[in-house]
Amino acid sequence: MAVRGWWRAAAIAAVRPGGGGPGRALGSAPESEPAPEPAAPATAALYVHWPYCRKRCSYCNFNKYVVPAVDEAAMGACLVRETRTLLRLSRVQSITSVFFGGGTPSLASPHTVGALLEAVAGAVHLPTSAEVTLEANPSSAGTSHLAGFKAAGVNRLSIGVQSLDDAELRLLGREHTAAEARSAVEAARGLFPGRTSIDLLFGLPGQSCGAWAKGLEEALGFCDDHISLYQLTLERGTALAAQVWGGALPTPPQDLLADMYQTACTMLVAAGFRHYEVSNFARKGALSTHNLSYWQAEQYIGVGPGAHGRFVPWGEGGRSREARVQTLEPDAWMQEVQRQGHGTRRRVVLSPLEQMEEVLALGLRMDEGITAERWGHFSPHLSLQDVFGGPGEAKELQQQGWLVLDDRGLRCSREGLALLDSLLPGLLCQLQQCWALPAPRVAPSHGSPGRSPAGDRDGGEATGHSRVLEAVTGGE
Ligand code: SF4
Repeated sequence: MAVRGWWRAAAIAAVRPGGGGPGRALGSAPESEPAPEPAAPATAALYVHWPYCRKRCSYCNFNKYVVPAVDEAAMGACLVRETRTLLRLSRVQSITSVFFGGGTPSLASPHTVGALLEAVAGAVHLPTSAEVTLEANPSSAGTSHLAGFKAAGVNRLSIGVQSLDDAELRLLGREHTAAEARSAVEAARGLFPGRTSIDLLFGLPGQSCGAWAKGLEEALGFCDDHISLYQLTLERGTALAAQVWGGALPTPPQDLLADMYQTACTMLVAAGFRHYEVSNFARKGALSTHNLSYWQAEQYIGVGPGAHGRFVPWGEGGRSREARVQTLEPDAWMQEVQRQGHGTRRRVVLSPLEQMEEVLALGLRMDEGITAERWGHFSPHLSLQDVFGGPGEAKELQQQGWLVLDDRGLRCSREGLALLDSLLPGLLCQLQQCWALPAPRVAPSHGSPGRSPAGDRDGGEATGHSRVLEAVTGGE
């Protein structure tokens, strides 16, 4: 549905093709090899992907499918089955948050959503206070439907408003009108007071800064306590990109995009919102705990076609954090789940360096940045000061007022947050150079926050390269 900002930042940390040595098929480890037990009760967030939409939006390149008829029973059963499998493989004991994304998960029935939540609660601890978010399109967010989701266990909604201008909504190929978006937000706020988020897009072709500010002002008049703002990205293969690149629509200039972003930040902060992440704003403490778990590099399990995950597969004898991607196409994914209990298409064992690159690239998206404590969980022997305290890129960025390094940790200044994409390459380079120094300065691998590093290293990781585990076998 909406452009997920955290995932854009994760491009730098995305699953890498190639990488280290030859792949090791799941199940090929000696049976006598004992799987180490986590040192502490393991937790993870859970992302569930509903891949279907009723219509393609003109700008969207997400993994979504518009089909004549959805076999919801089969899809729901496969989501439940894969959830059980991956929970078992991860050996997590508690799920801290659940996020139903898509696609358009509000097209699914509350029964399907409820069955998935019941499966989670039946397999691991799912605290009643856990945040359970569902993305909803205004065109499939009627009051009774939303009430059904609430009864099923959903306690937070993220509504894809995108714009409050009907001409812009038509340009974006959205199904709904501005009036329908307002009604959906009103209905959602009635059912989920304080826990309704809206997504808005800026940087549309031909959009002026004034028009953007006017729409945002209007949204502030009826929104709840969480807003996500995303700059429109022109994606190859989309109808909108073809129109812009073909000259039929204007390309928004970079300085205008920067003005729009700064204008929005100023307006939202003035309205009492905390700018807690590059694209996200919350007031009254309504931060998204699920998305925070991504930016804080916690473990997360991705279920459904094309879903991504990051966890240690203790149940398969794994010892290190892996990046997992599930099979993209729904029918192929379902066949794999029916055959082997999961549709994992690709696994990459993340090297210690790659884990730290993720911690850095994602953590700097937050206003609190990377705390010294969180960095230390992943890198107990190479502190933030060791990496960024000496002469180099970070020092220069501090002198320019864009970066702060102190006892609390490493974070961007407010001005630096707007420039994060251009700050990151130099910082990553500094991290990589420091990591390449000879032992004992190189930190050992760390499976997940809070876990002992002992036994986490292997030959592939010692080189700093990821290992791709291509042949995915095993399962339930
Ligand atoms: S609703 Fe539109 S933007 Fe969202 S996933 Fe479907 S096609 Fe993409």
